[in-house]
Amino acid sequence: MDGDAAFPDISGCIRAPWKEVDRIVCDDALSVPEVNLFVELPEGSAVGCPVCGAECTSINGNEEDIWVDLSRRHGCRLVVRSRVAFAGCPNCGNHKVQFVWEDPESDFTEC
Ligand SMILES: [Zn+2]
Repeated sequence: MDGDAAFPDISGCIRAPWKEVDRIVCDDALSVPEVNLFVELPEGSAVGCPVCGAECTSINGNEEDIWVDLSRRHGCRLVVRSRVAFAGCPNCGNHKVQFVWEDPESDFTEC
């Protein structure tokens, strides 16, 4: 199969500084193709503290969060997997950075 060509553009889901690091497409036994998108926030990225707004740098956590886009508007079941990232705030400590796809307006649901 010709990889990305079979799927609409899903790059809009992942915006800088988050970046895609891997992609696995499963379309053999499933009626709806599934795309697993592995993303990360590169450690040391500039992020704003979600609590006080201070400029900080990101720190990678060990846990993985998994989000699924149930809308199927991309013609597939889109699963985003990411290591949790924290903003290392000099004022108030480490706080989890919100994923861009965590927006209430997005089609993603945490699972
Ligand atoms: Zn802070």
